[in-house]
Amino acid sequence: MNKFLKQALKPLLVSSASRWGTHRRPSSEPRLWVLMYHRVLPVDDPRYHQEEPGMRVTPETLGMHLEELKRHFDIVSLTSWVKAHQQGKQLPRHACAITFDDGWLDNFEYALPLLKAHRVPATLFAVAEKIGTDFQFWPNIVAALLLEGAGHQMVEDRVLGVPGIDQTGRSPERIAACIKKLKVYTDRQIFDALDNMHWRQRLSTPMSPALMSWAQLREMQASGWVDIGSHTCTHQRLTTALSSSELEREIVESRVRLERELGTSVNLFCFPNGDYSAQALSLVKAHYDAAVTTQKGINRPRSNGLHELVRVGVHNDISDTRRRFNARLSGWL
Ligand SMILES: [Zn+2]
Repeated sequence: MNKFLKQALKPLLVSSASRWGTHRRPSSEPRLWVLMYHRVLPVDDPRYHQEEPGMRVTPETLGMHLEELKRHFDIVSLTSWVKAHQQGKQLPRHACAITFDDGWLDNFEYALPLLKAHRVPATLFAVAEKIGTDFQFWPNIVAALLLEGAGHQMVEDRVLGVPGIDQTGRSPERIAACIKKLKVYTDRQIFDALDNMHWRQRLSTPMSPALMSWAQLREMQASGWVDIGSHTCTHQRLTTALSSSELEREIVESRVRLERELGTSVNLFCFPNGDYSAQALSLVKAHYDAAVTTQKGINRPRSNGLHELVRVGVHNDISDTRRRFNARLSGWL
């Protein structure tokens, strides 16, 4: 379709999807929407502006989402839905499970009060060995360096040698494009390069803590509204670049660590960046009841395996009004 025509028809499509999408129609078989959130930050928080647009929602947007979800879905905890599925019990026709990836401190600050107020369950996938440390995810380090103007030469040219990155742009889109290009390298290569350039010393102001503490994670769990799943030990992408022993550690040890720290069983897993090799998948199948990917879609229990559950990613730019959020849930856009 012509680009301009497409643009002109977009509001109509959003409106139709919002009103008549899959989530509004009766279904002959049970379906499960798994929503994927990352950060929850108010617009006036400096951290909001330091984050990629695709990673963040405001507390106001999340609150509106929870209201809408209660209107259209049976909101379930992923753990209980998976248990019911395994036991062959009747599943809701329109089930929705909420997930938060990584264990961001802002989830404790802003998501937990909303989940409690709306009495809505969620699953949080924690990076087991990084909780309670000053760990920063490499995309955030790269973004911080680029925003300071300290990153172009070091991060892109000299250290990592990614060709074809525009040297002038510091817009969120340009930064996101740079981060995407860096993904040709392994996480280890990127962290080594950043450490070699002493990235912390290059920032005029230290980055604010990314992840919550163990005490905060325990408080999330103790609220009764949050289940904790594993998101590996160190957030490495589980590709063929990892050895068998590295995969074993990321997948199996993360569960052991979380169970020891939290005192409960951990049965759900989340693949970092949605990447996994065949070997990673079979290890996850052997050690967890279910796992989520970043593949977009709505789960039909009969056709999808429990270890490659698809999700609907939501962030502020595409879901800040009821209509746009409903369009996102439609499965059409
Ligand atoms: Zn993650």
